[in-house]
Amino acid sequence: MENYIIKNDNGISYLQFTKLLEYQDIVKHAISLKPIDIGSNDTFYNKQEAVYKDYEKMCTSLELDYNNIYRPYQTHTDNVKNVENEKPGIFTDEFREIDGLITNKKNKILSISVADCIDLMFFDPVKNVIANTHSGWQGTYKLISHKTVEKMVDNYGCDVKNIICCIGPSIRKCHFEVERDVSDKFYEKFKHLSNIDDIISKGKIENEKQKYNIDTILINKTVLMQMGLKEENIVDCGLCTVCNREKFHSYRVDKELAGRNTGIIALI
Ligand SMILES: [Zn+2]
Repeated sequence: MENYIIKNDNGISYLQFTKLLEYQDIVKHAISLKPIDIGSNDTFYNKQEAVYKDYEKMCTSLELDYNNIYRPYQTHTDNVKNVENEKPGIFTDEFREIDGLITNKKNKILSISVADCIDLMFFDPVKNVIANTHSGWQGTYKLISHKTVEKMVDNYGCDVKNIICCIGPSIRKCHFEVERDVSDKFYEKFKHLSNIDDIISKGKIENEKQKYNIDTILINKTVLMQMGLKEENIVDCGLCTVCNREKFHSYRVDKELAGRNTGIIALI
């Protein structure tokens, strides 16, 4: 049985994790499917009106108020920020160069944008804390998932044993092909992990160059389990954005023209 559902409502489609739906009286969430496109850091400004409409449709379907959206200006950092009493909005000054958001406050909709990168949604049902983190290959390398959980523990008193982490659609090992420079970088950083041979594999040879495939999802899962998250609390939808390009935006497929999916999560 799948661990997610695809919901069609209000003229749009989105993915939801069954594990988080168990708590839908306290937490709402969704990951958008095409044709929703919330724009990149660059393209957002030219399509603002359409983006706000898409956010409104998603939020209305979830019975949330889209005026409470917090969307950071993501730049592949490992910067995670607690959302307290800042004004909501898209790319506001207080949320520049931020790639992860945490809050324990109600009605603050944390929105992360992705096209191939991993959206990690966290929820602690005991302390009622949520987080939403953008972990592309750079964020994965910088261990932003580790940093997010660390902040949930240090700043909000979460117990790692209670934290649920849902892993959204992203580019998977099947399509995340890199050259020697990147694979060496990852090998150096993660060679202490016992499953390093599952994380990095030799791929095809192209123009006499050996390619490598990296499993960034497995890195995140391994790091989170080492921190003490329970295996059954790490829920991976298993979807590759390149394999499922008709449903999700993919940077590998569309390059600069790629749209963005959004994962949103809010306490109510
Ligand atoms: Zn794939």
